[in-house]
Amino acid sequence: MSKIILTGDRPTGKLHVGHYVGSLRRRVELQNSGEYDKIFIMIADAQALTDNADNPEKIRQNIIEVALDYLSCGLDPNKSTLFIQSQIQELTELSFYYMNLVTVSRLQRNPTVKAEIQMRNFETSIPVGFFTYPISQAADITAFKATTVPVGEDQLPMIEQCREIVRKFNSVYGDTLVEPEALIPQTQACCRLPGIDGKAKMSKSLGNCIYLSDSADEVRTKVMSMFTDPNHLKITDPGSLEGNTVFTYLDAFCKEEHFGRYLPEYANLDELKAHYQRGGLGDVKVKKFLNNVMQEELEPIRNRRKELEKQIPDIYEILKKGSEVARQEAAKTMADVKAAMKINYFDDAALIASQAEKYAQD
Ligand code: ATP
Ligand code: MG
Repeated sequence: MSKIILTGDRPTGKLHVGHYVGSLRRRVELQNSGEYDKIFIMIADAQALTDNADNPEKIRQNIIEVALDYLSCGLDPNKSTLFIQSQIQELTELSFYYMNLVTVSRLQRNPTVKAEIQMRNFETSIPVGFFTYPISQAADITAFKATTVPVGEDQLPMIEQCREIVRKFNSVYGDTLVEPEALIPQTQACCRLPGIDGKAKMSKSLGNCIYLSDSADEVRTKVMSMFTDPNHLKITDPGSLEGNTVFTYLDAFCKEEHFGRYLPEYANLDELKAHYQRGGLGDVKVKKFLNNVMQEELEPIRNRRKELEKQIPDIYEILKKGSEVARQEAAKTMADVKAAMKINYFDDAALIASQAEKYAQD
């Protein structure tokens, strides 16, 4: 069976380092591994509109921001198909049929949807489109017969829901769709990177982000203001790693070679953590180290972005071409789905012949 990737992001803002460690960095590695037959990367504008219906301009403006972030991180349009969700009408069509296979109570149990409804104060007035976005996400994944979906941990319930839809579809209509696997990051820190406030997941909606496009100064200011251990008042006090955002970020970004370059008195992160816990290591020193580590990773991305910002019309062209390729692929699945569901009347010569015969006998 072919190995196919589908994943994407909502164009509700620029991408942040949570997206980077949660999914984007991995996508680029997978793309360059050469192990995948096809890679589809989607800018999920239709999904973003489910909770931004009254703000279409925001979505429209952010399409190019997400595309710039993609390309500056190393997604390569020669290896991956970059496309815009709303341009693929088959995705809406598939969603409509999948809706028959999911119950309202099953959607209500989806923990990610539950949390997001609460976060958006939607409890009393949830747009139907938002409530059903897990179904639309299943359409996105299955339209490309994706086997692998690299995502952050918050997306696991979505992939589970998608797998259920696939099993249900295949059992009712015959083997047609492919059950995908989620690919989540190997380290806990990357699965759900907290915001710089340390309170919740870094998220565009919460305004606690370090953006991939932030300047070196902005990154430094944000790192230096990061939440640490509130009880670690004096350098000599023992410090705690629990909920300590600076160390969570080090778990996500730091490699052993960074110590040689920026903090040679420690061999690795374990030694640094042990010293912090013993006492005698100040927050500022750890933050300066984290700043160096993050700048090293973000600088090439930022520089590539500066170059790409000079080629905006070309980037729209990449998205247009990608959307055409994606559309062809989705149309093939749509044809399979229609045949399986027996709604391909005009292609079905046997149906027409048998109906003709029935009436010929009357
Ligand atoms: P929004 O607030 O509009 O939902 P978001 O910041 O949650 O935006 P999405 O576009 O919903 O971003 O998520 C895109 C991808 O990035 C998903 O795979 C998601 O799991 C991953 N992701 C988002 N935030 C984080 C995070 N803080 N840590 C790890 N992965 C993340
Ligand atoms: Mg989200």
